[in-house]
Amino acid sequence: MSEWEKNIRKTIPYVPGEQPKVKDVIKLNTNENPYPPSPKVLAKNLDMKSLRLYPDPAASLLVNAIAEYHCVKPGQVFVGVGSDDVIAMSFITFFNSEKEILFPDITYSFYDVWAEMLKIPFKRMPVNSDFRIVKEDYICDNGGIIFPNPNAPTGISEGLDFIEEIVKNNTKSVVIIDEAYVDFGGETALPLIEKYDNLLVVRTFSKSRSMAGIRIGYAIGNEKLIKYLSDIKYSFNSYTMNMPSIILGAESLADDEYFKETVKKVVITREWFTDEVKKLGFTVLPSSANFVFMSHEKAPAEDIFKAAREKRIFVRHFSSDRIKNYLRVTIGTDDEMKVFLEFLKEYLNGYALN
Ligand SMILES: *Cc1c(COP(=O)(O)O)cnc(C)c1O
Repeated sequence: MSEWEKNIRKTIPYVPGEQPKVKDVIKLNTNENPYPPSPKVLAKNLDMKSLRLYPDPAASLLVNAIAEYHCVKPGQVFVGVGSDDVIAMSFITFFNSEKEILFPDITYSFYDVWAEMLKIPFKRMPVNSDFRIVKEDYICDNGGIIFPNPNAPTGISEGLDFIEEIVKNNTKSVVIIDEAYVDFGGETALPLIEKYDNLLVVRTFSKSRSMAGIRIGYAIGNEKLIKYLSDIKYSFNSYTMNMPSIILGAESLADDEYFKETVKKVVITREWFTDEVKKLGFTVLPSSANFVFMSHEKAPAEDIFKAAREKRIFVRHFSSDRIKNYLRVTIGTDDEMKVFLEFLKEYLNGYALN
């Protein structure tokens, strides 16, 4: 190792799901929405000449639209380049003690990457044998708490009482609830933000709003939390949100009807697909998200994953011990799920013959 290499910040990066370069694939591996963004977003005319100018550093148009949508004050809203950016900023801002931050062992695998990179001590709390978060584990001295609700990649959601019990007992640290999938059937913790000034709720436009490509995430919490978060943001980059994101994000929020309709379609497909794969012998965790986490007693998940990939059907497989026999399957359109089901039927038939 060269001398200079000894002193640099080394990190093992998060590995996102594959974005295949080939066409005609069925892409069920990164929890994107199978439906396009709202027609209002598609029809919006952007004044590209104004790209000459810096965007509004406060992204006020978008912040105000989010505040109005959730009936909170603009000062309670923070926006970022996807919720990944919002959460990374939150780690830097709120997780700044010598104490361990807590998150589940089975969860979004970006959390430990940020913690490692930022040298934040952390502890993974094992979910129980049903993959449920054990709330008692989070009622202890800690440097902060974060978990998704619904959790990823399990899809399991917990109710408001569960969240409140954790927040109520942790007034000495910041609790972050990552609600990336809440619109597909979870219960939001937003009603608690007026009561607890240390609760931050994080959302994204990437899944339920069909806008993963534009990169918009946001956090809602007490004005003091948001102020601290903004101070860190302005110490990195004043202009995180570009002009198209600000305008098209606000446009998406203006079309609630389309939003609710597409979310409902995904949920209906999820329920139908769950019933169908159960008939094939899969165990499926109860999902409140736009994906299902499923496992087959006889056919190893990794084998199914590889065989599906050969047929240009992309799903997600994680190799960590507790979940290595599970597949995380994003809910696509009915047609896409039918093709995947047919593949599974054929695959399992062939498997029985071997
Ligand atoms: C997808 C996802 C995110 C990040 O989404 P962005 O595209 O960065 O907004 C954050 N948390 C969880 C649990 C996710 O699944």
